[in-house]
Order: sequence, then structure tokens, then C-alpha cells
Amino acid sequence: MKKTKKFDYMWFSVDGANEELVFDAKKYTKEQALEIAKNEFPLGNGEEFEVVERYVRYYPSTPSWCGCDSGSCYTYCPKDSRGSFKVLVITSDEKA
Ligand SMILES: [Zn+2]
Repeated sequence: MKKTKKFDYMWFSVDGANEELVFDAKKYTKEQALEIAKNEFPLGNGEEFEVVERYVRYYPSTPSWCGCDSGSCYTYCPKDSRGSFKVLVITSDEKA
């Protein structure tokens, strides 16, 4: 995903088109994350924000299943993975 070592909040690209804004859950509350998302994440017509909790870790060597082409990255991992930490993931959810 992204190559930076310091994790504050950052964009993850999911399949090249969809993007998710990912916040360190120790540094941001859900309310703070949504406030930042309002400025950084333009919503389309009929879309609203959805916040989910997931886990992320830093991979010094990018795992093969991660689509990014950097040598190392932060990406999603199982909760019990070594070095994992909780994140708040903001995505846009299209309402019918
Ligand atoms: Zn990656």
C-alpha cells in the first residue's frame, strides 16, 4: 500500500480505484477521523462515510498478496499478527 514508516493516517488503495483513509486508532477518535475525512475525501452523490475497525502492520518486505510495488509497506493483517495495531478505516458507502 503506502511506503511511509510513520503511521498517522494514510490512504490505502484497494484495487487501484477504490481508496480508503486509514487512521491509527490510538491517535484518532472516530469523530476526529470523520472530521479529517470530510476535508480529504470528496463524497459523490448519494454516498456517505462508513467507519470500520481493522488491523494493520508494517511489512519490511511487501507481502506478495499486497498489490503495491514498493519494497515495504503498511497493509491490513490479522488481529493477532505480530506488530499489528488497530486502525479506523473510512470508506464511502453508496446509499441506494
Ligand atoms: Zn502494500
